Amino acid sequence: MTAVNAYAAPKAKSPLAPFAFERREVGENDVQIDILYCGVCHSDLHQVRDEWGKSIFPMVPGHEIVGRVTSVGNKVKKFKAGDLAGVGCFVDSCRVCSNCMAGLEQYCDNGMSGTYNSYERDGKTPTYGGYSTNIVVDVNYVLTIADKLPLAGVAPLLCAGITTYSPLRYTRVGKGHKVAVLGLGGLGHMAVKFAASFGAEVTMLSSSKSKEVDAKKLGAHHFILTSDEGKMKGVRNHFDFILNTVSAPHNYTAYVNLLRTNGTMIVVGAPSDPLAVPAVNLIAKRRSIMGSLIGGIAETQEMLDYCAQHAIVSDVEVIDMPYINTAYERMLKNDVKYRFVIDLASLKK
Ligand code: NAP
Ligand code: ZN
Ligand code: ZN
Repeated sequence: MTAVNAYAAPKAKSPLAPFAFERREVGENDVQIDILYCGVCHSDLHQVRDEWGKSIFPMVPGHEIVGRVTSVGNKVKKFKAGDLAGVGCFVDSCRVCSNCMAGLEQYCDNGMSGTYNSYERDGKTPTYGGYSTNIVVDVNYVLTIADKLPLAGVAPLLCAGITTYSPLRYTRVGKGHKVAVLGLGGLGHMAVKFAASFGAEVTMLSSSKSKEVDAKKLGAHHFILTSDEGKMKGVRNHFDFILNTVSAPHNYTAYVNLLRTNGTMIVVGAPSDPLAVPAVNLIAKRRSIMGSLIGGIAETQEMLDYCAQHAIVSDVEVIDMPYINTAYERMLKNDVKYRFVIDLASLKK
């Protein structure tokens, strides 16, 4: 067993505080990782505040993990001590259902084991995430990280990156497509980078006027302030795809109306309220709404390799662990440029 320093939420809505626990012994198929950086996802905040109604406490959040391998089990060939490694949103799955067999472990029919706020395959050992000094994960769920890019900017790729890459690939977004990204936060800024990199014409739809200059720097060709009624009218029936990353309740219909015939809204933002859109707004132009959850292990590796090749990283604000409660408050005010990333050296002092 390895003693671990972490930050945990002791119960719903209470601030995160120091927490100590032990990681399991390194099994024959396990990789132990000294965590260097962990991104702060809005899903961490939703779950710490039990907004999805299925939180397990105490909770050590964090599923955007990069670090260095410290030891491996005797059957592990893919990693050795000293290698860089990454862990995303899940650490195991059933491995036998049709989704797992197809590399869609995130949709495991028997339920994936989330990196935190979840249980190992035994159904009773709680999982603890990356707001901690180290983690032990089965090698099949560990990603290879290239040493080409700044590591703090790589960490958010493990969730914000794959969550936006996967549906853009699934829908084959590329040249000739008009794509809107709704909400410029952690997911939104990666969506802009990927959609632009894939050759689409990208419009940023944001509620924050102050983000216009950044949106263009990130690769957006156009920027529309969503409170600007005139500009919003001008893009009715306009987009092939809208990637919706908004974390709070909002009027979905206002954005569905911006889709052209056969257009699709890809929903990745996960506020707990129901998504209510009148049927006629879909029917009238054969529009659709689809959801998408992170991505499988193989696709996550593909995304990481794509980013290494194209020098794509997240724009980050690196913080020390004790700043996390302030970071959450700032996230709720849309004041993140564009991902907080925890430097775990701050927990090792
Ligand atoms: P984030 O960094 O906080 O960004 C969310 C953005 O949404 C904000 O920056 C803001 O952008 C916009 N927004 C927030 N409140 C709004 C409101 N009331 N009305 C309109 N726009 C608003 O969050 P994130 O980490 O990117 O996560 C976004 C959502 O995706 C969360 O719900 C998260 O749980 C979910 N998520 C889903 C998956 C998945 O697999 N599907 C994976 C990860 C995260 P502007 O300032 O530009 O308006
Ligand atoms: Zn996430
Ligand atoms: Zn499965």
